[in-house]
Amino acid sequence: MQKHEINCDVLVAGGGMAGVCAAIAAARAGAKVVLCQDRSVLGGNASSEIRMHIVGADVHGSRKGWRETGIMEELRLEDAVRNSERCYPFWDVILYEKVMAEPNITLLLDTDVVGADVEGVGPGPLDRPQRTERMYEYNGKPGRITAAHAVRHLTEDTFTIRAKMYADCTGDGRLGFEAGADFRIGRESVEMHGESLAQPKDDTHTLGSSILLTSRKLDKPAPFVAPPWIRKFDAEQLKVGRGINSWEYGFWWIEWGGHLDSIKDNATTIRHELYRIALGVWDYVKNSGNWPESANWTLDWIGAIPGKRESRRFVGPHMLTQADVLDSHKHADEVAYGGWAIDLHPYKGIDAIDEHPYTPTHGKNVYGIPLRCYFSRNISNLFFAGRNISATHVAFASTRVMATCAAGGEAIGTAMAQCVAKKITPAELVADPKQIAALQATLLRNDVTLLNVAKPVSKALEAKITASSESAGSPAKNIVSGTRRDELNPKSGELIVSHQWMSEPLTAGGEAWVELAWTSPVEVKEVHLTFDTGFVRELTLSPSDWATKRIVRAAQPETIRDYTIVADGKVIETVTGNYSRKRVHTLKKPINANKLRIVATATNGVPEARLFEVGVF
Ligand SMILES: Cc1cc2nc3c(=O)[nH]c(=O)nc-3n(C[C@H](O)[C@H](O)[C@H](O)COP(=O)(O)OP(=O)(O)OC[C@H]3O[C@@H](n4cnc5c(N)ncnc54)[C@H](O)[C@@H]3O)c2cc1C
Repeated sequence: MQKHEINCDVLVAGGGMAGVCAAIAAARAGAKVVLCQDRSVLGGNASSEIRMHIVGADVHGSRKGWRETGIMEELRLEDAVRNSERCYPFWDVILYEKVMAEPNITLLLDTDVVGADVEGVGPGPLDRPQRTERMYEYNGKPGRITAAHAVRHLTEDTFTIRAKMYADCTGDGRLGFEAGADFRIGRESVEMHGESLAQPKDDTHTLGSSILLTSRKLDKPAPFVAPPWIRKFDAEQLKVGRGINSWEYGFWWIEWGGHLDSIKDNATTIRHELYRIALGVWDYVKNSGNWPESANWTLDWIGAIPGKRESRRFVGPHMLTQADVLDSHKHADEVAYGGWAIDLHPYKGIDAIDEHPYTPTHGKNVYGIPLRCYFSRNISNLFFAGRNISATHVAFASTRVMATCAAGGEAIGTAMAQCVAKKITPAELVADPKQIAALQATLLRNDVTLLNVAKPVSKALEAKITASSESAGSPAKNIVSGTRRDELNPKSGELIVSHQWMSEPLTAGGEAWVELAWTSPVEVKEVHLTFDTGFVRELTLSPSDWATKRIVRAAQPETIRDYTIVADGKVIETVTGNYSRKRVHTLKKPINANKLRIVATATNGVPEARLFEVGVF
């Protein structure tokens, strides 16, 4: 093995959706980042290796209007436009391209983070309990990671990576585990946090893992000869909630292993049994005689890695609970939000034949997540994002979906860069209202949605705003309202309150404009535009035809396609073919301007020009 030493500001371990967004956010905020991903592709459970569709606060489009913004939306739009035919490996490429486009990121693929050097904390790895829980008595003196160790067997290299801040986005919490961070595995009791959805008595069970499969229809019969070692299924075993209704997408309820150790038993018992179950279900579809319509359907792909739902959950200064989720508690240090149901599954998975494979409890509203759920309470420079955040088993059952993981990733990436720049720890950041306000302001500026934080400040707020035309209920002044999504009826999608400017319909060859005018010239360095990208619909890459038929896999029709920015009568930017929600125009040289006009000449479909926000910095 050849040894390498790397110094950086931020190490992100794990390149699932949380890790990718954390690395991009930290890099864009100016930190030098190393992103270590143990696989050859990025995306974790969303990658072509597992193929789960990313869902989030809009609950598959049934809480309309609540799609995540920021980096998650940027990735979704890129995929919808450039991967319209739903090629999963091309989604891997999009993630790879986005990460590689950041000059501040060093991407180490096929590289496992395997250890950590720590000063000032607890016993070494071998002394630690492996299962259930590890909580050191916290005396207010946290330990600190001084280096992480990584291995790339493919090229026979080892790496010692010294960073100022570390992020565990490995799902399993490997880096934090090696560093001695407090964690839990399993389900809490009702008594522990007063959660009615918790267990009468705490236990070590988790949600199970799954191996997915996809299939496609041929124009001729496609017989399936089942291997002799598979499980056999009949209608009785699948009678409760395990519907055979989307062969192309496979069956997420092929879930098993919640009674085992999802880390230690993963590659042996769990994977083997999941192969037996997945192929057994396919054999049932093809050969039971109950599904004659399956005659021309052939197996297209079957996963080799169990998609893992749950293992370690770290303990931060705050543990998110059922009440935080269902009652939408407000937190002064809110940095992300969620909205998926508390989506609990029986730990026996497919073997719980009399139980529904999932029991969702929906909160009335979306809820904020505080920064205190995203860093360790006993390791001073360790953040985390993804399914391993500081949440009870019940709250995790909502925060675990990948768009929520991605929102957390963007939050910690931004927070880590701030900690590095200001030479502070995350605990110091949350303790200082000025630092929290600065973090939230950066997040808002980057189009992150925060539910309970005042609107972003920009020079646009001081401008007089006029427009070529306005549609009823969507006046031009909305572009400085600070709210960057419409209020919709969550079920029907009907508009309740518009928070954007909408012009009257554009005529052929015509244009619509909105103008900001100041009484004396203002210096303009950056112009931020936030467009409408159709939050009335779900947007995700999904193998499911059911989900996809409601999705526009192209530029979203609501978005302005071609526009110019005009300062005091002079065109300073011209854009054609836009499909992004957020565009930042950084001027080569700052200018002084009395008037700034955004002129739309075409959209991607709708007749009128739409714009949520103009920010001037
Ligand atoms: C079958 C199944 C169905 C699901 N359904 C949905 C759904 O429909 N929609 C949805 O949004 N969510 C769904 N989820 C939940 C969601 O997929 C997970 O909660 C989510 O992937 C967690 O994101 P993450 O980034 O924390 O972890 P992951 O997606 O697991 O990513 C972590 C990454 O870190 C890498 N890694 C691990 N250890 C190391 C190490 N030591 N060094 C370097 N890299 C490492 C892993 O290879 C992985 O790529 C489902 C999960 C499963 C299993």
